[in-house]
Amino acid sequence: MAKTIEEKQYLVRYKADKKSHLTILNQEECAKCEGQVCTLFCPGEVYKWEGDRMFVGYEGCHECGSCRIGCPSDNIKWEYPLGGHGIVFRLA
Ligand code: SF4
Ligand code: SF4
Repeated sequence: MAKTIEEKQYLVRYKADKKSHLTILNQEECAKCEGQVCTLFCPGEVYKWEGDRMFVGYEGCHECGSCRIGCPSDNIKWEYPLGGHGIVFRLA
């Protein structure tokens, strides 16, 4: 039987680097951004809008790359985590 996305996500593990591989370039752009859409399309729920600021929980990034094309203001600097860090997928 096909697994739900939640069941699949339960299988992933992370080895977080100390430094974020994701950077918001301009918080003022986020304040102007209608709906803060990165909080909707990111499967890792990495982006959280709190008060007047975007917080980035890079440790949970799935490295899907969606935020490279999904941010309407091109306001996210995206890099791969350093070698040996980031998400580890397990197939089951
Ligand atoms: S989609 Fe881009 S501009 Fe909009 S809130 Fe997210 S990072 Fe900021
Ligand atoms: S690469 Fe994917 S999982 Fe990581 S922050 Fe961007 S949208 Fe979220």
